Amino acid sequence: QAKSSGRNQFCFYQASAGQQNADELKLEQALREALKHQQLQLHYQPKFALASNHIVGFEALVRWQHPQLGQVSPGRFIPLAEKLGLISTLGEQVLQQVCQQQQQWQHLALPVSVNISALQLADADFVSRLQHIVQQAGIAPGLLELELTESCLIHEQAEQTLNQLTQLKALGFKLSIDDFGTGYSSLSYLRRLPIDTLKIDQSFVQDLPGNISACQIASAIIAMAKALGLDVIAEGIEHQQQLDFLLQAGCDKGQGYLVSAPRPAQDFTKALSAENY
Ligand code: C2E
Ligand code: MG
Ligand code: MG
Ligand code: MG
Repeated sequence: QAKSSGRNQFCFYQASAGQQNADELKLEQALREALKHQQLQLHYQPKFALASNHIVGFEALVRWQHPQLGQVSPGRFIPLAEKLGLISTLGEQVLQQVCQQQQQWQHLALPVSVNISALQLADADFVSRLQHIVQQAGIAPGLLELELTESCLIHEQAEQTLNQLTQLKALGFKLSIDDFGTGYSSLSYLRRLPIDTLKIDQSFVQDLPGNISACQIASAIIAMAKALGLDVIAEGIEHQQQLDFLLQAGCDKGQGYLVSAPRPAQDFTKALSAENY
């Protein structure tokens, strides 16, 4: 297999187009099955206060472990679900699981964020279905944060999106912009959105503190968030020097392997009950 021959080795052959199509079709079939049988799972990654390492919330990240195909990454199956028109189904299963988990964690009162794809948000039923799921679970909307990427916000129906976000905000949900700094949304449009948090994209964080432009961009995002009265969080923190830079630049929350990779919920339940939240 070309795949198992190692990262830096030259690949001498490529799968034929026919084989690629067959693989793609197999994956499509498998994804339909996984959704039908609700086999997707969630991992949770802590968000922590940079100064104290205390957990201040979580991000839910979808996981798919297929018996034959192994672990398939969301970077691969989310776009596929979007292409197949299955993203709203997938998204609802994710929301349902998050709400169940939040029922169990309710006493902690820690917000959990969920990634929402642009196509899912564009679904005219999105707000009412989300509201339904949350009511069924008996969860306070403020315990859910919706992570939207800038690409959610720059499609043609900017006004409709603004409307939806305004509704969601009025219902009590928290809103954040994921991968901030990598999209093309205009600041004048962003300014009108009722968002709570900007998430500094991990591509900038990765290059801290050695790369001057990454430092300047991260600092500028932090300063802008503060000026606009928004929360700011950095994702993809792997090294102490990155954390140190962010902290002195005025960012007070983060996520990343330095503190914890995404893990199954039960891995945190015990640790959290041991701490006095
Ligand atoms: P994202 O929302 O920007 O999530 C951050 C990604 O970075 C996650 O990858 C996470 O596991 C990874 N990560 C966290 N800390 C570190 C770190 O310190 N270093 C590095 N290198 N990576 C880190 P993952 O789980 O593979 O998810 C990839 C993307 O797939 C997410 O990016 C999000 O856009 C999408 N995604 C994941 N779950 C869902 C979901 O339930 N629904 C939707 N619509 N999209 C999802
Ligand atoms: Mg995210
Ligand atoms: Mg992100
Ligand atoms: Mg991302």
